[in-house]
Amino acid sequence: MRVGAGTHVGKVRSNNEDAYLIKAPLLAVADGMGGHEAGEVASAAALDALRQYEFGPGDVTEQLTEAVQAAHARVAAAVAAAPALSRMGTTLTAALVVAKEIYVAHVGDSRAYLWRNGELQLLTTDHSVAAELMRAGEIDEQTAQQHPQRHVLTRAVSAGRRPDVDIIVMDRRPGDALLLCTDGLTAHVSDAEIAAVLQQQGDVQVNAEALVQLALERGGTDNVTVVIARCERPEVIE
Ligand code: MN
Repeated sequence: MRVGAGTHVGKVRSNNEDAYLIKAPLLAVADGMGGHEAGEVASAAALDALRQYEFGPGDVTEQLTEAVQAAHARVAAAVAAAPALSRMGTTLTAALVVAKEIYVAHVGDSRAYLWRNGELQLLTTDHSVAAELMRAGEIDEQTAQQHPQRHVLTRAVSAGRRPDVDIIVMDRRPGDALLLCTDGLTAHVSDAEIAAVLQQQGDVQVNAEALVQLALERGGTDNVTVVIARCERPEVIE
Protein backbone atom coordinates (compact mmCIF):
# COMPACT_ATOMS: atom_id res chain seq x y z
CA MET A 1 0.00 0.00 0.00
CA ARG A 2 1.33 3.42 -0.97
CA VAL A 3 0.21 6.47 1.00
CA GLY A 4 0.41 10.19 0.22
CA ALA A 5 -0.94 13.22 2.05
CA GLY A 6 -1.21 16.97 2.01
CA THR A 7 -2.57 19.64 4.33
CA HIS A 8 -2.77 23.42 4.01
CA VAL A 9 -4.11 26.27 6.15
CA GLY A 10 -5.96 27.62 3.09
CA LYS A 11 -6.26 31.24 2.04
CA VAL A 12 -8.61 32.64 4.66
CA ARG A 13 -7.91 31.06 8.04
CA SER A 14 -4.92 31.95 10.21
CA ASN A 15 -4.47 28.50 11.82
CA ASN A 16 -4.54 25.00 10.38
CA GLU A 17 -6.82 23.08 12.75
CA ASP A 18 -6.79 20.03 10.47
CA ALA A 19 -4.40 17.19 11.08
CA TYR A 20 -3.75 13.76 9.65
CA LEU A 21 -2.20 10.52 10.83
CA ILE A 22 -0.32 7.98 8.74
CA LYS A 23 0.63 4.89 10.70
CA ALA A 24 0.06 2.34 7.96
CA PRO A 25 -2.16 0.40 7.81
CA LEU A 26 -3.95 2.99 10.00
CA LEU A 27 -4.80 6.35 8.41
CA ALA A 28 -6.88 9.25 9.69
CA VAL A 29 -7.91 12.86 9.21
CA ALA A 30 -9.27 15.21 11.89
CA ASP A 31 -10.78 18.67 11.50
CA GLY A 32 -10.60 20.53 14.79
CA MET A 33 -12.89 23.32 15.95
CA GLY A 34 -13.43 25.46 19.00
CA GLY A 35 -11.99 28.87 18.36
CA HIS A 36 -8.54 30.39 18.87
CA GLU A 37 -6.06 27.55 18.99
CA ALA A 38 -8.38 25.00 20.58
CA GLY A 39 -9.20 23.25 17.30
CA GLU A 40 -5.56 22.37 16.77
CA VAL A 41 -5.35 20.95 20.29
CA ALA A 42 -8.45 18.81 19.73
CA SER A 43 -7.41 17.34 16.36
CA ALA A 44 -3.87 16.66 17.57
CA ALA A 45 -5.08 15.05 20.83
CA ALA A 46 -7.55 12.80 19.00
CA LEU A 47 -4.97 11.61 16.48
CA ASP A 48 -2.37 11.07 19.20
CA ALA A 49 -4.77 8.80 21.10
CA LEU A 50 -5.52 6.93 17.88
CA ARG A 51 -1.81 6.54 17.13
CA GLN A 52 -1.20 5.08 20.59
CA TYR A 53 -4.08 2.63 20.42
CA GLU A 54 -2.73 -0.88 20.10
CA PHE A 55 -4.64 -3.01 17.61
CA GLY A 56 -4.43 -6.72 18.22
CA PRO A 57 -6.01 -9.87 16.87
CA GLY A 58 -9.77 -9.95 17.20
CA ASP A 59 -12.73 -7.92 16.09
CA VAL A 60 -11.55 -4.92 14.07
CA THR A 61 -14.88 -3.09 14.29
CA GLU A 62 -14.80 -3.24 18.08
CA GLN A 63 -11.20 -2.12 18.25
CA LEU A 64 -11.69 0.79 15.86
CA THR A 65 -14.72 1.93 17.84
CA GLU A 66 -12.70 1.65 21.04
CA ALA A 67 -9.85 3.64 19.43
CA VAL A 68 -12.27 6.48 18.59
CA GLN A 69 -13.63 6.38 22.16
CA ALA A 70 -10.01 6.61 23.37
CA ALA A 71 -9.70 9.76 21.24
CA HIS A 72 -12.88 11.09 22.86
CA ALA A 73 -11.50 10.35 26.33
CA ARG A 74 -8.26 12.14 25.44
CA VAL A 75 -10.09 15.27 24.24
CA ALA A 76 -12.33 15.21 27.33
CA ALA A 77 -9.25 14.95 29.58
CA ALA A 78 -7.61 17.90 27.80
CA VAL A 79 -10.75 19.98 28.40
CA ALA A 80 -10.88 18.94 32.07
CA ALA A 81 -7.28 20.12 32.46
CA ALA A 82 -7.88 23.40 30.60
CA PRO A 83 -11.50 24.60 30.93
CA ALA A 84 -10.78 27.51 28.55
CA LEU A 85 -10.78 24.86 25.81
CA SER A 86 -14.26 23.62 26.76
CA ARG A 87 -15.78 24.22 23.32
CA MET A 88 -13.14 22.34 21.39
CA GLY A 89 -13.82 19.24 19.40
CA THR A 90 -12.86 17.50 16.21
CA THR A 91 -14.12 15.33 13.42
CA LEU A 92 -12.39 11.98 13.11
CA THR A 93 -12.38 9.76 10.03
CA ALA A 94 -10.00 6.82 10.31
CA ALA A 95 -9.32 3.82 8.10
CA LEU A 96 -7.63 0.54 8.83
CA VAL A 97 -6.62 -1.38 5.70
CA VAL A 98 -6.18 -5.07 6.47
CA ALA A 99 -5.52 -8.04 4.21
CA LYS A 100 -8.99 -8.44 2.78
CA GLU A 101 -10.99 -5.49 4.04
CA ILE A 102 -10.97 -1.74 4.49
CA TYR A 103 -12.52 -0.57 7.78
CA VAL A 104 -13.54 3.05 8.23
CA ALA A 105 -14.53 4.66 11.56
CA HIS A 106 -16.27 7.98 11.22
CA VAL A 107 -17.57 10.88 13.34
CA GLY A 108 -18.28 14.34 11.87
CA ASP A 109 -18.18 15.83 8.38
CA SER A 110 -14.80 14.76 7.08
CA ARG A 111 -15.14 12.04 4.43
CA ALA A 112 -13.83 8.72 3.17
CA TYR A 113 -14.10 7.81 -0.50
CA LEU A 114 -13.27 4.56 -2.27
CA TRP A 115 -12.10 4.71 -5.89
CA ARG A 116 -12.38 1.40 -7.68
CA ASN A 117 -12.20 0.74 -11.43
CA GLY A 118 -12.94 4.33 -12.33
CA GLU A 119 -15.88 4.73 -9.93
CA LEU A 120 -15.72 6.97 -6.88
CA GLN A 121 -17.94 5.97 -3.97
CA LEU A 122 -18.55 8.10 -0.87
CA LEU A 123 -18.33 5.70 2.08
CA THR A 124 -19.24 8.09 4.89
CA THR A 125 -22.28 10.14 5.89
CA ASP A 126 -21.77 13.79 6.85
CA HIS A 127 -22.84 14.35 10.46
CA SER A 128 -23.94 17.96 9.96
CA VAL A 129 -27.29 19.68 10.49
CA ALA A 130 -27.68 20.43 6.77
CA ALA A 131 -26.78 16.88 5.71
CA GLU A 132 -29.22 15.39 8.25
CA LEU A 133 -32.01 17.66 6.93
CA MET A 134 -31.17 16.53 3.39
CA ARG A 135 -31.29 12.85 4.35
CA ALA A 136 -34.64 13.46 6.04
CA GLY A 137 -35.90 14.82 2.72
CA GLU A 138 -36.56 18.27 4.14
CA ILE A 139 -34.12 20.12 1.87
CA ASP A 140 -32.45 19.28 -1.43
CA GLU A 141 -28.71 18.95 -2.05
CA GLN A 142 -28.35 22.46 -3.46
CA THR A 143 -30.06 23.99 -0.42
CA ALA A 144 -27.90 21.85 1.86
CA GLN A 145 -24.72 23.18 0.23
CA GLN A 146 -25.77 26.77 1.01
CA HIS A 147 -27.43 26.03 4.36
CA PRO A 148 -26.31 28.32 7.24
CA GLN A 149 -25.87 25.23 9.43
CA ARG A 150 -23.93 23.18 6.89
CA HIS A 151 -20.86 23.35 9.13
CA VAL A 152 -22.71 22.69 12.40
CA LEU A 153 -21.91 19.12 13.43
CA THR A 154 -24.44 16.70 14.88
CA ARG A 155 -21.65 14.39 16.05
CA ALA A 156 -18.08 15.23 17.08
CA VAL A 157 -15.22 13.99 19.20
CA SER A 158 -15.43 16.53 22.02
CA ALA A 159 -15.74 16.81 25.78
CA GLY A 160 -19.45 16.05 25.41
CA ARG A 161 -20.99 12.62 25.48
CA ARG A 162 -19.28 9.66 23.84
CA PRO A 163 -19.95 9.91 20.11
CA ASP A 164 -21.82 7.29 18.11
CA VAL A 165 -19.20 5.91 15.73
CA ASP A 166 -20.12 4.82 12.21
CA ILE A 167 -18.14 1.80 11.05
CA ILE A 168 -18.05 1.02 7.33
CA VAL A 169 -16.53 -2.23 6.07
CA MET A 170 -15.58 -2.77 2.41
CA ASP A 171 -13.85 -5.69 0.77
CA ARG A 172 -10.40 -4.73 -0.45
CA ARG A 173 -9.35 -5.25 -4.06
CA PRO A 174 -6.07 -4.69 -5.88
CA GLY A 175 -5.93 -1.24 -7.45
CA ASP A 176 -8.36 0.30 -4.93
CA ALA A 177 -7.63 3.85 -3.81
CA LEU A 178 -8.94 5.13 -0.49
CA LEU A 179 -9.18 8.88 0.06
CA LEU A 180 -9.77 10.60 3.40
CA CYS A 181 -10.36 14.36 3.41
CA THR A 182 -11.64 17.25 5.46
CA ASP A 183 -14.50 19.47 4.28
CA GLY A 184 -12.01 22.08 3.04
CA LEU A 185 -11.53 19.81 0.02
CA THR A 186 -15.16 19.00 -0.73
CA ALA A 187 -16.23 22.65 -0.28
CA HIS A 188 -14.38 23.41 -3.52
CA VAL A 189 -13.70 20.17 -5.39
CA SER A 190 -16.43 17.93 -6.79
CA ASP A 191 -16.58 14.16 -6.59
CA ALA A 192 -16.01 14.03 -10.37
CA GLU A 193 -12.81 16.06 -10.00
CA ILE A 194 -11.58 13.85 -7.16
CA ALA A 195 -12.26 10.81 -9.36
CA ALA A 196 -10.37 12.39 -12.27
CA VAL A 197 -7.25 12.89 -10.13
CA LEU A 198 -7.38 9.33 -8.74
CA GLN A 199 -7.93 8.03 -12.29
CA GLN A 200 -4.47 9.30 -13.24
CA GLN A 201 -3.01 6.34 -11.31
CA GLY A 202 0.07 8.43 -10.61
CA ASP A 203 2.11 8.88 -7.49
CA VAL A 204 -0.23 9.14 -4.49
CA GLN A 205 1.74 12.04 -3.00
CA VAL A 206 1.44 13.99 -6.27
CA ASN A 207 -2.30 13.15 -6.38
CA ALA A 208 -2.83 14.38 -2.80
CA GLU A 209 -0.95 17.63 -3.42
CA ALA A 210 -2.86 18.20 -6.69
CA LEU A 211 -6.19 17.99 -4.83
CA VAL A 212 -5.03 20.37 -2.08
CA GLN A 213 -3.83 22.78 -4.78
CA LEU A 214 -7.19 22.62 -6.55
CA ALA A 215 -8.99 23.59 -3.33
CA LEU A 216 -6.58 26.52 -2.89
CA GLU A 217 -7.11 27.70 -6.46
CA ARG A 218 -10.86 27.73 -5.87
CA GLY A 219 -10.51 30.01 -2.86
CA GLY A 220 -9.17 27.83 -0.04
CA THR A 221 -11.88 29.07 2.31
CA ASP A 222 -11.07 26.43 4.93
CA ASN A 223 -8.15 24.31 6.05
CA VAL A 224 -7.79 21.43 3.59
CA THR A 225 -6.38 17.95 4.20
CA VAL A 226 -6.16 14.90 1.94
CA VAL A 227 -4.78 11.40 2.59
CA ILE A 228 -4.68 8.86 -0.25
CA ALA A 229 -3.81 5.17 0.03
CA ARG A 230 -3.56 2.96 -3.01
CA CYS A 231 -3.49 -0.81 -2.80
CA GLU A 232 -0.82 -2.21 -5.05
CA ARG A 233 -1.77 -4.16 -8.13
CA PRO A 234 -1.15 -7.08 -8.32
CA GLU A 235 -1.96 -7.74 -4.71
CA VAL A 236 0.64 -9.40 -2.55
CA ILE A 237 -0.72 -12.50 -0.86
CA GLU A 238 -0.81 -11.90 2.90
MN1 MN B 1 -12.99 22.17 7.92
